[in-house]
Amino acid sequence: MLQNAYLKRVYEDTVRCNPGQPEFLQAVGEVFESLEPYVEMHPELETHGIVERLVEPDRMVTFRVTWEDDQGKVHVNRGFRVQFNSAIGPYKGGLRFHPSVNASIIKFLGFEQVFKNSLTSLPLGGGKGGSNFDPKGKSDNEIMRFCQSFMTELYRHIGSQMDVPAGDIGVGGREIGFLFGQYKRLRNQFTAGVLTGKSLRFGGSLARTEATGYGLLYFTQEMLRCLKSDSIEGKTIVVSGSGNVAIYAAQKAQQLGGKPIAMSDSAGYIIDRDGIKLDVVKQIKEVERGRIKEYAERVPGAEYHEGCRGIWTIPCDIALPCATQNELDLDSAKALVANGVQAVAEGANMPSTTEAINYFLDHNILFGPAKAANAGGVATSGLEMTQNSMRTNWTFEEVDQKLQGIMVNIFHQAEEAAAECNAPGNLVVGANVAGFKKVANAMLLEGLY
Ligand code: NDP
Repeated sequence: MLQNAYLKRVYEDTVRCNPGQPEFLQAVGEVFESLEPYVEMHPELETHGIVERLVEPDRMVTFRVTWEDDQGKVHVNRGFRVQFNSAIGPYKGGLRFHPSVNASIIKFLGFEQVFKNSLTSLPLGGGKGGSNFDPKGKSDNEIMRFCQSFMTELYRHIGSQMDVPAGDIGVGGREIGFLFGQYKRLRNQFTAGVLTGKSLRFGGSLARTEATGYGLLYFTQEMLRCLKSDSIEGKTIVVSGSGNVAIYAAQKAQQLGGKPIAMSDSAGYIIDRDGIKLDVVKQIKEVERGRIKEYAERVPGAEYHEGCRGIWTIPCDIALPCATQNELDLDSAKALVANGVQAVAEGANMPSTTEAINYFLDHNILFGPAKAANAGGVATSGLEMTQNSMRTNWTFEEVDQKLQGIMVNIFHQAEEAAAECNAPGNLVVGANVAGFKKVANAMLLEGLY
């Protein structure tokens, strides 16, 4: 419940102006709760209308995407791009292709992206886009035709100095390739910096594929080190999802001496108490685009269980939700705490419900919120843009080292901001305030727009 009159008024106006957008309102509500002490200390924010300017995107486009399947049947999907805030840099944020995509989900992701990008300390504004297109079960040619049609509208709204999309759920290297090819055809220009997550063959960055998952573990390691004098070494870890973020989170966890024992997809989860064999997961999910269920058929001793939430009932030291929004609810949080979890860090965007987060914080569980803990992906996208501008390629080690530095720095920014707001150790408050401060101060200096 908000106490600050200014934040309360803006929140009520936001609710009134955005009916039917629960995910967006959830994201705004969570940020506002964290901002209360900071806003109390800074009356100039209200005078300049900073908070109401932050919750209203600069613009949002929706468009029709018409494409033909392999049987010659025509389909129509809806495309979105929200350009939320460009106070500190060009709009930047991924594209999500998933049947659940709607205006609320795109706006929640775009809003979160503003603060996350600010935390990276790179000059990146916030945006997000996508479509309710379902890539599951589609042929490569169908994916290509969809991506070409999507870009045929999107190209007018993006640019290397304006708005730079990347991947997200359902959009990986294959889709970015098709999107980039169509952008180049339409503009007749090779502008590498217009998209990130590109193949290494045409301007991609080493370590971008690994970046979100690796970054999550660098953040978690620093959080354990500074707040508990502990480390990943020897910890049992549960990772939800088995996509880009989950796979490379599990990989880095293993490299740091941890033991991931469970992973999932939208149908169910696997447990392998001997430790997940990542080569098997990669073969199933990256190469064959199959189901996680097949892991239990290939690895003796591994179990498969239908349904997603059960993964949180597995006893573990560290939980890493890396699948999707609101996948970890209050009951899941209670089960994790009852089973002795020590730390939770979010690889996905808003995977924990507000009630789950509050439960973790009330029980003194170390909690790394998404906008800080998963910022490694967009940070490395920022490094990809830098390499594109410089027309150079850094080595894997160079990029990985910069990524580590960025994640450690994000942890310390959040920790310091939390302490300033009298909420020591509360990284939710810390990440929101630290991300907000930079954007708000830039807006104050840039004048009205
Ligand atoms: P992918 O599409 O590569 O993978 C998503 C994974 O989550 C798939 O394994 C999918 O299973 C699974 N999944 C979807 N819904 C559920 C569910 N309800 N329960 C369990 N598993 C589920 O996406 P990413 O790995 O790229 O993204 C995952 C999350 O991380 C998203 O929230 C995204 O916004 C966030 N993120 C991604 C970044 C990136 O760089 N890729 C950067 C920062 C955040 P299935 O195959 O069955 O669909």
